[in-house]
Amino acid sequence: MKIALGADHGGYHLKEHIKNCLEERKIDVVDMGCADTEAVDYPEYACKVAGQVSEGRVYQGILVCTTGIGMSITANRFARVRAALCTTPDMAATARSHNDANILALGGSIVSRETATEILDVWLKTDFTGRGRHGRRIEQIKQCTLTQVDPVALYDSDPEIHTVLRSEQRRESLSLNLIASENYSSRAIREAQGSVLTDKYAEGYPGKRWYNGCIHVDTAEQLAIDRARELFAAEHANVQPHCGSTANMVVYFSQLKPGDTILAMSLDHGGHLTHGHPANFSGRLFNIVPYGVQRESERIDYDEIARLADEHRPRLIVAGASAYPRIIDFPRLREIADNVHALLMVDMAHIAGLVAGGCHPNPVPDSDFVTSTTHKTLRGPRGGLVLSRKKYAAEINRHLFPGLQGGPLMHIIAAKAVCFQEARQKDFKEYAQQIIRNAQTLAFSLSSHKVRIVSGGTDNHLLLADLSSMGVTGKKAAEALDRAGITVNKNMIPFDTRSPMITSGIRLGTAALTTRGMKEPEMEKIGEWIAAVIRQPDHDKTIAAVAEKARALAAAFSLP
Ligand code: PLP
Repeated sequence: MKIALGADHGGYHLKEHIKNCLEERKIDVVDMGCADTEAVDYPEYACKVAGQVSEGRVYQGILVCTTGIGMSITANRFARVRAALCTTPDMAATARSHNDANILALGGSIVSRETATEILDVWLKTDFTGRGRHGRRIEQIKQCTLTQVDPVALYDSDPEIHTVLRSEQRRESLSLNLIASENYSSRAIREAQGSVLTDKYAEGYPGKRWYNGCIHVDTAEQLAIDRARELFAAEHANVQPHCGSTANMVVYFSQLKPGDTILAMSLDHGGHLTHGHPANFSGRLFNIVPYGVQRESERIDYDEIARLADEHRPRLIVAGASAYPRIIDFPRLREIADNVHALLMVDMAHIAGLVAGGCHPNPVPDSDFVTSTTHKTLRGPRGGLVLSRKKYAAEINRHLFPGLQGGPLMHIIAAKAVCFQEARQKDFKEYAQQIIRNAQTLAFSLSSHKVRIVSGGTDNHLLLADLSSMGVTGKKAAEALDRAGITVNKNMIPFDTRSPMITSGIRLGTAALTTRGMKEPEMEKIGEWIAAVIRQPDHDKTIAAVAEKARALAAAFSLP
């Protein structure tokens, strides 16, 4: 057991006494000053001791100044520090047993040496009770530290952007987010993302960088690579793509020549822009043959994919989607690709968190390439990822850097490493399962309020509501829901007759609300509220009533 000791000039004599007491009791002491009674500034010594306690370098700390007040105020600004100013042995006993205090603050002019010795002995022999109401309250202290932290330097340097941040935080906490591609990253991820690593240039890959000084960012990137490979059982991982679009681009550029044929899911049946939309680089550079879903089942038509593959002999088949609510049959796609000697790429951007949590088949064993974003169900920082077979590793790496990107975003890569670490935990599995249960409950609730769900339900985190028979467009429904504090996006449904700017549907996803801790009962209510709004999108009273309930529900489930 090691205890750090610190004092200013007003606490020096009592600190020396405490030091002797601790040594007599065979306790290791780290004396961090001061060394005599010459005037010094107490925060300097409080910071030294509190820093040691906060970082877990010592078991506890003891701080002494004239009254103990300045020392305790300063020490309590440190994460994980609970400093208690004690003037009696009873206070010391309570501070330890109820508050799990880890720094004892004493006043050199307040307590005598005898009282200080008694306080010290009680402090040392009292343990935190650890359970029940006291444990719960310590947890609440931790939570309050997490939610109340304000970006102080930003406030001083750019109050306008500070206001944007605070307003967005407020908007997020007081509304219900059902955007299927969004989530709330953990505070740990945001800390890595907002860190000094943003300043480092590291063109190249771990161990082979263009610039010097990459020793620490190399560690971060190697951790991200190793964890991604392990999480998805992949032979190779490149964690540098700035976004999902670049991840797709690097696979195309590494394997195809302009004009080559790609067989991919069309945007209006659930595919993504980078799967061949005419306005996107993919549609402009390559010959795109689109596939879609069957009209009746609204599920992917694998026989039609096989037929199209046979007819067009694509170099690459792309699977994965932005708005497809059903499990994708990767072994079947592998078989189709093998029959025509095509490569298979799966873009698992939407479902990566479900795959990591073991709730959706993993596309890696069946694919040549798997691309992803890290910020949707996977709940990491905004970014991209490419997984591939080992034989493609060098080509992928070379086509990303120097082919497509310059310096990697090392702060994002560190945050990706944290994301993969979080996704390896047992509670992430439970999270992934709950996302699906929530989506299924939401689909059921909407259906029971006579809203048609595309394909009759969902196997994953998202669902598509078909509003075509309800006399409201997707655009109008999404705007009305926004006014009611429920955020969704308009979305085309298969065989939609309306334009992508208007649409006949809305897309709903449950990853973000599940992160906030919402479960089936909340989903049932939200389904009822959504149905009420889309049935009467111009009825101000209905919208106001839903808005009030939505706000109250949101306020009850905090953001991470
Ligand atoms: N792939 C799919 C399936 C997506 O849904 C998305 C984004 O929504 C992307 C790729 C592109 O990701 P990004 O926006 O990071 O470029």
